[in-house]
Amino acid sequence: MTIDDLEAWLRLAADRLHESAGRLTQLDQAIGDGDHGTNMDRGFSAIVAKLDAAREAATPAGLGADGSPDPAGLLRLAGKTLISTVGGAAGPLYGTAFLRAANAVATRSELSAEDAVAALDAAIAGIAGLGKATVGEKTMLDALNPALEAARAAVANGEDGPAVLAAAADAAEAGATATIPMLATKGRASYLGERSIGHQDPGATSSALLLRALADCSGAG
Ligand code: ADP
Ligand code: MG
Repeated sequence: MTIDDLEAWLRLAADRLHESAGRLTQLDQAIGDGDHGTNMDRGFSAIVAKLDAAREAATPAGLGADGSPDPAGLLRLAGKTLISTVGGAAGPLYGTAFLRAANAVATRSELSAEDAVAALDAAIAGIAGLGKATVGEKTMLDALNPALEAARAAVANGEDGPAVLAAAADAAEAGATATIPMLATKGRASYLGERSIGHQDPGATSSALLLRALADCSGAG
């Protein structure tokens, strides 16, 4: 994936989060405070606004370490924007995920399937560290970790980039669905105790949405 593919991903993700804001908010109303849809919509709209401003000024967005645009620079821009514009738990968690992903691919001008695996691995470590969370606690990790495992398996099978990302998106969606019977032990949903059971986790749902958008971009590009 090139920096242009990544920009297309961020824009597609922003569109889909905007369309899905109502659904994400409904999910968060059931086991949280009902702001996840607006949180994600606000954050990704802010990312798109920065991308648009950079286009208008003809100054590339996402400058890397050497001052020219690269995938890591774009991921860093996304992470910083999410941290500064999204409140609640998801802003810092996703923001950290993007910053860690950027660090994992810091020297790359284009991202291979292996780079995508490394970026996802680093993103998950960032979320787990900041959220003090692990798999099975009904959080975004329950979509992202199965996605990482599926992507790793696909790479090991010698599949190409689009197939690796499609496998990751499929696993993330299955993982998000699998949060329904889970008991939440992290974040606001944990305050509900047993009453968190029977509802899909909003953060796992938005994580699956982000990975599906990534897969759809790579397939097209
Ligand atoms: P808030 O919970 O502050 O209202 P959001 O509603 O935007 O923030 O995000 C809630 C989502 O964040 C949850 O559905 C869950 O997936 C994720 N989350 C919350 N706390 C944690 C945590 N400690 N570790 C990992 N993910 C978490
Ligand atoms: Mg919330």
